[in-house]
Amino acid sequence: MRPCPSHRIARAVLRAVLSILMLTGLAHAANASVPNPVTSTIPPCLAVCPQADIAYTVVIRDLANNPVNSANVVFDFSGCPNMQLCAPVPSTDYQFLSPTSISTTTNAAGSATIHLEAGGCCANAVKIYANGVLMTDTIYHPLVSVANADQSGDLFVQPNDETLIVAKSASDPTADLNCDGTHDAADNALLLDHLSHFCKSLIDPVEKHTWGQVKIRYR
Ligand SMILES: [Zn+2]
Repeated sequence: MRPCPSHRIARAVLRAVLSILMLTGLAHAANASVPNPVTSTIPPCLAVCPQADIAYTVVIRDLANNPVNSANVVFDFSGCPNMQLCAPVPSTDYQFLSPTSISTTTNAAGSATIHLEAGGCCANAVKIYANGVLMTDTIYHPLVSVANADQSGDLFVQPNDETLIVAKSASDPTADLNCDGTHDAADNALLLDHLSHFCKSLIDPVEKHTWGQVKIRYR
């Protein structure tokens, strides 16, 4: 005896519902804890002082907006020829993967903070990955810019750095030290707060003309 049309329809609907539930379950399993740029927080401005006294924080989340714990976060500076990273010291809060890339790990809140020790600036070129997924995908997050108190990239913050930052345009992201989206007098003033700062790994900067200042600070 053939099932009546209403039963056939009911079975078809049931099969469709089961298929959707199965696919949804698979998709959920696939997306669980996978970093997703849509829900993650990746500030476009990375402010830096070679003395590691400026923090930068990313928050990594999955598609369901859950924080991703223990995610490996990689910063790739290979597109930044004017930057140089300071040699690591015991207090450095990230690891080197290569001369131009570093990594750190998120906590239970999906958050990872670094205090980058580096000289030099970089416009729209830093890539950030989380567990291998590109966060700076240029759709949801642009490539990150570095605004450094050490504008010249010699690993010291000196008066010439003030000269360099003052000469930059209002829209130059490498001069936006306070990361408010614009370069203005506040950024120039902020640079002065970091005057005479240098890489912690540079113990004996004898060749620098700021040696006197540095020596006093180092005692
Ligand atoms: Zn500083």
